[in-house]
Amino acid sequence: MAGPYPHLAEPIQVGALRLKNRFVMGSMHSGLEGHPDRFDSLARFYAERAKGGAGLIITGGFSPNHAGRVKDHPCTLDSEETLPAHRKITEAVHREGGRILLQLLHAGRYGYHADIVAPSPIQSPINRESPAELSEAEILRTIDDYARSARLALAAGYDGVEIMGSEGYLISQFLALRTNHRGDDWGGDLEARARFPLEVVRATRQALGPGGLMSYRISALDLVEGGLGQEETLWLAQAVEAAGADCFVTGIGWHESAVPTIAGAVPQAAFAGAAAKIKQVTSIPVIVSNRINLPETAERLIREGQADMVSMARPFLSDPEIANKALTGKSQLISVCIACNQACLDHYFTDQAISCLLNPRAARELDYRDDAAEATKAVAVVGAGVAGIACALEAARKGHRVTLYDAAEEIGGQFRLAAKVPGKRDYGLAIDAYDRQLEELGVKRQLGAAVDAETLLAGQYDEIVISTGVTPRPLDLPGAEDPRVVGYSDVLTGKVRAGERVLIIGGGGIGHDVALYLAHPNVPESEELEAFEEHWGIGRAREPQASPRKVTMLKRSPGRFGRTLGKSTGWVLRQELRDFDVRQLSEVTYRKIDAAGLHITRENEPDVLPADTIVVCAGQESNRSLADQLMAKGCSVHVVGGARLAGELDAKRAIEEGAKLGNRL
Ligand code: NAP
Ligand code: SF4
Repeated sequence: MAGPYPHLAEPIQVGALRLKNRFVMGSMHSGLEGHPDRFDSLARFYAERAKGGAGLIITGGFSPNHAGRVKDHPCTLDSEETLPAHRKITEAVHREGGRILLQLLHAGRYGYHADIVAPSPIQSPINRESPAELSEAEILRTIDDYARSARLALAAGYDGVEIMGSEGYLISQFLALRTNHRGDDWGGDLEARARFPLEVVRATRQALGPGGLMSYRISALDLVEGGLGQEETLWLAQAVEAAGADCFVTGIGWHESAVPTIAGAVPQAAFAGAAAKIKQVTSIPVIVSNRINLPETAERLIREGQADMVSMARPFLSDPEIANKALTGKSQLISVCIACNQACLDHYFTDQAISCLLNPRAARELDYRDDAAEATKAVAVVGAGVAGIACALEAARKGHRVTLYDAAEEIGGQFRLAAKVPGKRDYGLAIDAYDRQLEELGVKRQLGAAVDAETLLAGQYDEIVISTGVTPRPLDLPGAEDPRVVGYSDVLTGKVRAGERVLIIGGGGIGHDVALYLAHPNVPESEELEAFEEHWGIGRAREPQASPRKVTMLKRSPGRFGRTLGKSTGWVLRQELRDFDVRQLSEVTYRKIDAAGLHITRENEPDVLPADTIVVCAGQESNRSLADQLMAKGCSVHVVGGARLAGELDAKRAIEEGAKLGNRL
């Protein structure tokens, strides 16, 4: 078969549907499920992904009834009232030649509202609310509710439904002894605990009839104490197939698991083995998920027979065209998801509609214009960090002639440094993709020499964008000129090799990243999976971690470290630093640096911390001198990203500012 990824390209029969390829856009909460008035946005969002080649799309979760909602807004499909809004989604996807399933998710004790229910009244460690125990009558009604929602989904034009049976939601709660202590026919041995999910599958099958597709998201690994063991999971898979499911999507871990399952710390396709085991004992297609962001990984998994299809949720956010690009030999242009979670999951957890750090258009497609500019302009973008790149790409898409300047030899700015940090290797892939996208869109790159105001003015540009980013804040302290005091960029680029005793001044995002970089043993890529499983105790006992250095982080402010890190990834980084024995000192006053080390005061006591290396991660200052010079000459400029505002700068804001400006020019 022709093409770079023949296995991904091959059509497949799943239930009654023939799917055009093996790319599945996996389910992900968009934050809009409870807002039918905003389904125009959701329709456009999914339609873009269908147009981009997804063989199958699965929506974010909709609850079969009010008690099962995840959040305190009505993300339910329990009446005909919202069908017209849903039809906008299904019609838009079908117009683009796509297929779409609606996911049915009953949150059980994971709902964030007061009236949650569960098989047993056991509170989840990640929820302040305690669930009420479902009565037998309520269980039977809930099963009927799944069937009603499946019928409504078909009426709304969906191609079928997915039953969410993983991640610790209601179905997992019935299955696991951890959460099901019932003494009636719905609790006890595995067969009794599986009665609820199997009844749900049977009722849903009946509601869908032979024509509707039913996917079952199975927890391939629970990763919690009191969860299902492997033999139990395989028994369940066979029972679910017999009850009428058409395919499996694998889910990994409960939300309360103390093991990262989708963060950057997770190696590529780390859990594919668990999917392969399900495939071995069943005969319906198995769709593998978790940390699969590259077509070559996806192709390998299918070629090796570990799965039949591949589910990518976040990679379809960062690049809606991932499937088409892969299948037409343009995978070098794919904006590879970097697993940062900053604009997707972290938005959802903080009650914001999701988007993507790399692709701020995601789920905001209606806010961007796709038409060409009325007049072609000459645009200069100064600074090829992520803000400048995003601006240059959007402006070039509008048809403008764009020149991108940077004093550095390579594009990427601070993002390129991030790629050195353990778990952030994919940041380098994102920069490589940016480079090729700039090339493809004809953006002229002037790299390796700083451009000055005179050159820009002589260039007769219609628009000048200053995205010169930030400069690390220098340390203002007696002895700061000591050769042991170094900037973080020199450490991350390898220009400076840190000694064995390291002090890090600053407890922001970069301080944490540098601490991990220095405390982490440098594991070769080929050994990453084994090291990950040992570290987090997956399928084996958790091993103590050894660090090559003694690292201490310091900050002046009170409170614990890492409070500003992302909600869904910060805990992983904090745990890794604890495991590598990184010491963290707050409320420190810096006095001076001399031969003895860093002199501090803490809790009113003076102290001296000896050090071989002192790394300064003391935040950033705006780099806007060029903007000021141009404005002083009467030139009007646009200033974006860190050059505009260094405080609270992150790549998400920088990229969004750049992209929005570029789209407006
Ligand atoms: P930051 O988050 O603002 O942190 C700066 C740190 O420097 C603070 O902990 C501050 O602590 C300290 N500081 C400030 N002024 C100082 C001074 N004059 N002398 C000594 N210490 C000083 O900045 P960043 O770490 O450079 O990060 C930049 C941006 O990138 C942030 O928005 C960050 O969220 C983002 N980022 C995030 C991640 C991540 O989430 N994993 C990773 C990298 C970067 P005290 O004032 O308490 O001393
Ligand atoms: Fe991937 Fe980060 Fe975008 Fe989420 S925000 S889709 S993790 S790149």
